[in-house]
Amino acid sequence: MSTRDVDVLIVGAGPTGLTAAGDIARAGRSVTVLERWPSVNPASRAFAVMARTLEVLDARGLTENLLVHAHRAPGVTIFGGARIDLTHLDSPYRFVMVTPQTNVDAALREYAVAQGADIRRGVEVTGLQQDGDGVSVLTNAGDSWRAKYLIGADGAHSTIRALVGADFPGKTILSSIVLADVKVAHPPAGDGLKVGSTRNSFAFMAPYQRRDDAGSWYRAMTWDRGYQVSDSQPVTDDEIVTVLNQAMDTGPTVLEVRWKSRFHCEERQVTRYRHGRVFLAGDAAHVHSPMGGQGMNTGIQDAANLAWKLDAVLAGAPDTVLDTYHDERHPIAKRVLFQSGMLARAVTLHPRTARGLRNLLAPRLLGIPRVRDAVAGSFAGTTLRYARGRGGHPLVGTRATQIPLTQGRLTQLQRTAPGFVLIRERGAGPIDANGLQQAERADDGPAVLVRPDGYITWAGDSTERSGWDAALARWAGPARIDVGRRGPALGFVVRQLRRRLRGEGRAFGDDVPIVVHPPRNRPQYRYRLSAASVCGNELPAVQVAFDDFQRIVIGWHT
Ligand SMILES: Cc1cc2nc3c(=O)[nH]c(=O)nc-3n(C[C@H](O)[C@H](O)[C@H](O)COP(=O)(O)OP(=O)(O)OC[C@H]3O[C@@H](n4cnc5c(N)ncnc54)[C@H](O)[C@@H]3O)c2cc1C
Repeated sequence: MSTRDVDVLIVGAGPTGLTAAGDIARAGRSVTVLERWPSVNPASRAFAVMARTLEVLDARGLTENLLVHAHRAPGVTIFGGARIDLTHLDSPYRFVMVTPQTNVDAALREYAVAQGADIRRGVEVTGLQQDGDGVSVLTNAGDSWRAKYLIGADGAHSTIRALVGADFPGKTILSSIVLADVKVAHPPAGDGLKVGSTRNSFAFMAPYQRRDDAGSWYRAMTWDRGYQVSDSQPVTDDEIVTVLNQAMDTGPTVLEVRWKSRFHCEERQVTRYRHGRVFLAGDAAHVHSPMGGQGMNTGIQDAANLAWKLDAVLAGAPDTVLDTYHDERHPIAKRVLFQSGMLARAVTLHPRTARGLRNLLAPRLLGIPRVRDAVAGSFAGTTLRYARGRGGHPLVGTRATQIPLTQGRLTQLQRTAPGFVLIRERGAGPIDANGLQQAERADDGPAVLVRPDGYITWAGDSTERSGWDAALARWAGPARIDVGRRGPALGFVVRQLRRRLRGEGRAFGDDVPIVVHPPRNRPQYRYRLSAASVCGNELPAVQVAFDDFQRIVIGWHT
């Protein structure tokens, strides 16, 4: 039995796994996705894509096309006339995009394949073992795979989670929820998403961008306190129509019901996202109420956070960089669990007095601009931030997407330059920065160093090189040079090495192994650089391997 070897193995071709696969392949790493479904899953669970996810997708060139056939809902009406108003969001996307999850999955699949990810369908992972050098997995077909790292993006019933022995504490919060696509003659008023409820039922309707003379298509969700059955009980059209008529103010006349399914929802989160060389992401790491439309959004952003860190560590960054995946993403999902759970509980409140109070307070609170923007930003993901660390600039940990640039937008720049970006102050000229991507801001803010996932990791004066250089070194490890997509000429490489050695103030005689990561499937050419050719001094000989591919990453460990 032969073992296939890759840099990163991903289990599960849902939105989380596909995002990670595309990003890792884009960084020049070999990545294979193993998916147990032999063909694309036609079931479409998620329908709401939030502003922050749209920004993330835009940095991969996917948002514009998705928006063409999607509905843009400016808000969500919840109860007592209260509304989560998205029209004031600090984002180019002041709405929630309503589109079937199958469309998002398809866009991410195309992205992953275009970047060179290998997606294998009909392959179920059944066994896993890890050691100090990598992870080995076994599949249902008896094949074996080996990778330096593995991402378990295999959904709520994750096999990988079980194989690494991770706990998944939590509980069921709602059962017998019905999801369906319905065509209605008299849709609810307004163009947003709408939740309607009585003491014993609730319904939710989200408009698709599909209508004809007879009516419009909606994604509907219904729940009836008096009809609690197991997920396997078939759904009837009648139960959907009855709850829609009860819960929505203007009973929408249902003309047709298509796809329908019954499910229950749980609130659970793993205690640790990292298990050695195995990482849990998306639904494998956290599940919660679908109310608030957060699951797929959070999974895509988990992947965007993890992928570049894996690339960095594969290129020689310290292993501790990978711990920050848990540190940053666990609190975000914890908060998502809290807010989507709170919304589910508020919608299904039973006591009359509590419901009365809820209907009285919610519209008033959400009418206060600060509360309105805090709630909207939290659901949209635009105000979620990572910790900035002690003494860090207040901007550290926030996203850089909204910084106005003299040319284009950050997400446009990231489509072709997915690494770190140094955004200089207005008027500041380009800095000699070892191939680091740069831009100039068009407003009066400070210079910022932006991570590949769009979050600020340093802010200050761009001429203080030691500041952003140290931030870069913290993530990328010492002396890592990314020469982007320029063809590598030996002279260029030597100049880069010389500059970095001098910049780091290395002493003569330092042991400086140079690690180069040539893209896979390419012939490699090896050049032996003498100490003199690097620094003109007595450093030991180093070896550089690179090929004629457009991208090359150079780094060295001390
Ligand atoms: C009713 C409903 C409505 C929702 N609405 C929204 C919404 O509006 N917005 C939102 O953001 N989220 C929503 N969600 C949540 C969203 O659907 C999920 O969070 C999202 O699909 C999770 O993506 P994932 O890639 O992590 O996992 P999944 O999409 O579950 O993908 C996991 C993949 O792993 C594969 N797999 C599993 N085990 C193995 C194995 N051993 N070997 C190989 N492959 C394996 C599975 O076949 C699957 O394809 C909703 C969920 C539900 C139930």
